[in-house]
Amino acid sequence: MRHPRYDILFEPMKIGPVTAKNRFYQVPHCNGDGYRDPSAAAEMRRIKSEGGWGVVFTEQTEMHHTSEITPFIELRLWDDADIPALARMADAMHEHGALAGIQLAYSGINGPNLYTKEVPRGPSALPIRTFTNDPVQARAMDRQDIRDLRRWHRNAFRRAKQAGFDLVCLYGAHGFGIIQHFLSTATNQRTDEYGGSLENRTRLMRELIEEGRDAIGDTCGLTLRISLDEIIGELGFGNAEVRDMIEMHADLPDLWDLAHGAWEDCSGPSRFKEEAAQESLVAGIKKLTPKPVVGVGRFTSPDVMARMIRSGTLDFIGCARPSIADPFLPRKVEEGRIEDIRECIGCNICITGDMTMSISRCTQNPTFMEEWRKGWHPERMQAKGAGESVLIVGAGPAGLEAARALGMRGYKVILAEAGAELGGRVARECRLPGLSAWGRVRDYRQYQLSQMQNVEIYFDSRLSADDILGFGFEHVALATGSTWRRDGVARAHVVPMPIDPAMPVFTPDDLMEGRLPPGRIVLFDDDHYYMGGVLAELLARQGASVTLVTPSAYVSDWTRNTLEQGAIHRRLVEHGVEIVLNRTVARIDADVVVTACSYTGAEARLEADGVVLVTARQQKDELWQALTARQDEWAGSGIRSIKVIGDAEAPGPIAWATYAGHRYARELDEPDIGDALPFRREITALARA
Ligand code: ADP
Ligand code: SF4
Repeated sequence: MRHPRYDILFEPMKIGPVTAKNRFYQVPHCNGDGYRDPSAAAEMRRIKSEGGWGVVFTEQTEMHHTSEITPFIELRLWDDADIPALARMADAMHEHGALAGIQLAYSGINGPNLYTKEVPRGPSALPIRTFTNDPVQARAMDRQDIRDLRRWHRNAFRRAKQAGFDLVCLYGAHGFGIIQHFLSTATNQRTDEYGGSLENRTRLMRELIEEGRDAIGDTCGLTLRISLDEIIGELGFGNAEVRDMIEMHADLPDLWDLAHGAWEDCSGPSRFKEEAAQESLVAGIKKLTPKPVVGVGRFTSPDVMARMIRSGTLDFIGCARPSIADPFLPRKVEEGRIEDIRECIGCNICITGDMTMSISRCTQNPTFMEEWRKGWHPERMQAKGAGESVLIVGAGPAGLEAARALGMRGYKVILAEAGAELGGRVARECRLPGLSAWGRVRDYRQYQLSQMQNVEIYFDSRLSADDILGFGFEHVALATGSTWRRDGVARAHVVPMPIDPAMPVFTPDDLMEGRLPPGRIVLFDDDHYYMGGVLAELLARQGASVTLVTPSAYVSDWTRNTLEQGAIHRRLVEHGVEIVLNRTVARIDADVVVTACSYTGAEARLEADGVVLVTARQQKDELWQALTARQDEWAGSGIRSIKVIGDAEAPGPIAWATYAGHRYARELDEPDIGDALPFRREITALARA
């Protein structure tokens, strides 16, 4: 049972007319699914309820068609037709006793309306503020627009209640909700009774909440989500003014939900933000209001959570990513199973599902968003099939996750690792600047495997095809990983780049093994995820003079999807890294790197003592090739299947490897589904022609 020091996390608390059973509060979070995949999203929320969260929220829900955020896929409550999908979600949240919350957003100056083609409306006439700098402007709302907006809110409140929600949250945080646009003098430049003084700028918020309360009656709580500090300079809605505002309207909402800055600030990755990073911004706010306060901070430690409540900083522990990485976090605290918590590593891969409008993944929890599509439960596996024994070769994220999941299914598992430690690439990468939390991918699995009688691990065991054919395991998974290429092949060069052997060339593997080139280094990043930026930082910290060259318009381009691109660029500038954008490396001469403009091909020369190529990775599949060449010997050796998984099949981010390991374990000994789709999906109902 749980330790008494966590009892405080399980005290019920009222939010207006409703009561949360505990202090675990899953704040709204996106998942890339939204209105396109409502059943998948509903099942994901049901699992959170089963995992013990006292409050479970939807993601952002567009509450009127005049303000939508295409291409991003969130929820919609445009009219009554949207109620059934939301009701399914509210029912799912209720199933295990959570309060069901819906977050309503009118996106104002953040909604480009690319789908509805409506003219956006904001407090002032300004360009739309989106990730994609859409060439669209909002018009300033007049008094009639404000009356319309208030009516639309009342309608949305009534619909939310009809769908069965217990809590309705008005979104005024992250720069995404119109309440914030009215609160901030950066976006509210009005001279009427809705602009100017703080009292005027809060007028709309007060009207929406007071009228919302009339609309939802006394069975539903009404909460307000705002940013603790807009952090956009003097004009922004800063922390001091946030405090004045809360004091001024102390008992207006039933709960204050305190997020932070822009989304990038609030969901900062572990590379740039510690757990509980917002503590100083939220400290003392509880004294300004009699209403409960929830705050976030990538909380994964129950001790930090209990301290937040005991110290009077927060009433509820708000979690988005920690609830994704481990939907059963509250249950594990309650049952005294702290070591079983699958801690979020703060990589923000989950956010990329939303940013790429695909469907979210989680590095730590491969079942995330597959709860309905594939019927994958985060804590339960089906019993093992006909086979008994599985050999897994390689203990990187793919091999470790396969071993854990197969162990849960009851197979006898042997995990053979060539090296002397678990974790593969994760063990190496977590030693790079800012990435220590990524070691949790290994730590969680290492502990789980240590608890399983049916899993054995062998180190210093580099296996050959002969070894594997000699052992006679029924099933074999090859999770042998990948190595970084040394020949420059990636996107700019699809065949090896001209490289003079006189120039010392290094790969990320060299650097991670401690071979750091000194002097003037050109780092060519044609990978575009985190590795180029991290290694530039590593080299600069070691005193090298680093020039990062990339054909992209951004350093670490793909990290725009993990919301850290700006922070990476800033950090490299701080460390004196010279950043050369929109140029590729055309060839490497003996003492010079020749770069070429991505657009014109115009060449330039960079003198260098060494070059680091962060380009692509080569799958380490020699074992797979050797074994497929000897397929006729498998049956005689007692082998029923051999599969190659993870980076050894095709290199990708760590989340792709844990997913591959998990999928292998789920599908082993299952019937062959042939050409059928391996997941369920929702098909749009055809309207009458
Ligand atoms: P992934 O991301 O797919 O899990 P990694 O590169 O992180 O891949 O891990 C692969 C692991 O496999 C490494 O720890 C490596 O030492 C191990 N490995 C590679 N080849 C062999 C082999 N022939 N026998 C045993 N282990 C191997
Ligand atoms: Fe945490 Fe990464 Fe999972 Fe997101 S994807 S919940 S940041 S571990």
